[in-house]
Amino acid sequence: MKFNKKLENIKTYEAGKPIELVVREFGIEPKDIVKLASNENPYGCSPKVQKAVGEIVANMALYPDDSMLKLKNALSNKYSVLDGNLIIGSGSDQVIEFIMHAKADSNSKILINSVTFAMYEIYAKHVGAEIIRTASQEHNLEEFYELYKRENPDIIFLCTPNNPTGDAIDAKALMVFIEKIDENTLVVVDGAYMEYAAFKDSKKSVTPKELIEKFSNVIYLGTFSKAYGLGGMRTGYGISNSKIIKELYKLRPPFNITTLSLEAASVALEDSEFVESCISSCFSEMKRYSEFATKQNIAIIESYTNFVTLCLNNHQNSTTLADALLRKGMIVRDLSGYGMNAIRVTVGKPEQNSRFFELTTELL
Ligand SMILES: *Cc1c(COP(=O)(O)O)cnc(C)c1O
Repeated sequence: MKFNKKLENIKTYEAGKPIELVVREFGIEPKDIVKLASNENPYGCSPKVQKAVGEIVANMALYPDDSMLKLKNALSNKYSVLDGNLIIGSGSDQVIEFIMHAKADSNSKILINSVTFAMYEIYAKHVGAEIIRTASQEHNLEEFYELYKRENPDIIFLCTPNNPTGDAIDAKALMVFIEKIDENTLVVVDGAYMEYAAFKDSKKSVTPKELIEKFSNVIYLGTFSKAYGLGGMRTGYGISNSKIIKELYKLRPPFNITTLSLEAASVALEDSEFVESCISSCFSEMKRYSEFATKQNIAIIESYTNFVTLCLNNHQNSTTLADALLRKGMIVRDLSGYGMNAIRVTVGKPEQNSRFFELTTELL
């Protein structure tokens, strides 16, 4: 059977291995498996969410509220934006998909960082757009600007803090950069880890409000999958000026967010105390990773997220290490597919991190 030719050079996205698969493949008991591969919140979500969702489970026959009023109100309160500035997606992944289909086609160019979130490229390939990459591993806005001038891209993706490296763009420099971009180029600021950056260093954090007040060609992306501990609920959002949101809405399938997810996300936003305490433990545990890296003589990239990227030296191979860890029930992310001899490890609970240090010390 013939398929859309564009699919030929798309590699299927490889998600962090689920615990269930490790149970089946290696016969390890679920209680002995630690998953530090997908940047989830190890403390889960606010207990208030669990209570609220439990109450909804009794009534699931009806389609969800497609206006998403409760969640939109919660988001507009949190970010001081209007309902018309918001679109909710099944994960911010889905918003990226809407953006790509709304703005790009097979004549388009998409400018991204050399190492960054894989979904930008995958969705760009869906529409047959050309990918332009910078050379530097960290976002270098001068390089971005040069390529912008030369290639005139339709979309620029800035992932800050960046996945899978954890570094973040200086907020002032970001604003100065966007100022120079023509309003026909859409600038996507993916803030999947912005809650962490804001906690660690306000100079690295931007708010959707300041972005959309200043610029008509920017969309900010946020998600409930990381700091809010709701990866299983698949809920993310885009914040932009109402004209852009209106275009994206044309591509949104009806009822794209479940009733459970809408409730969970709305209630999660109210409990900022819970989220703050998780972020605070994340950064205090992260210090142990720095100490570990120093002791093992491996490089660690300064991280503004809930994960660390450990760059192995020439004597160690990241694929071999990640596989060996997997066989012992420790799931981390091998970054060889990103052209890096490195592994990405989500900062877990203290005992999970201790287990990582113990196993990795044995294996190195
Ligand atoms: C996790 C992540 C997302 C999307 O997460 P969803 O679960 O689809 O909301 C988007 N961008 C980056 C950089 C991420 O790491």
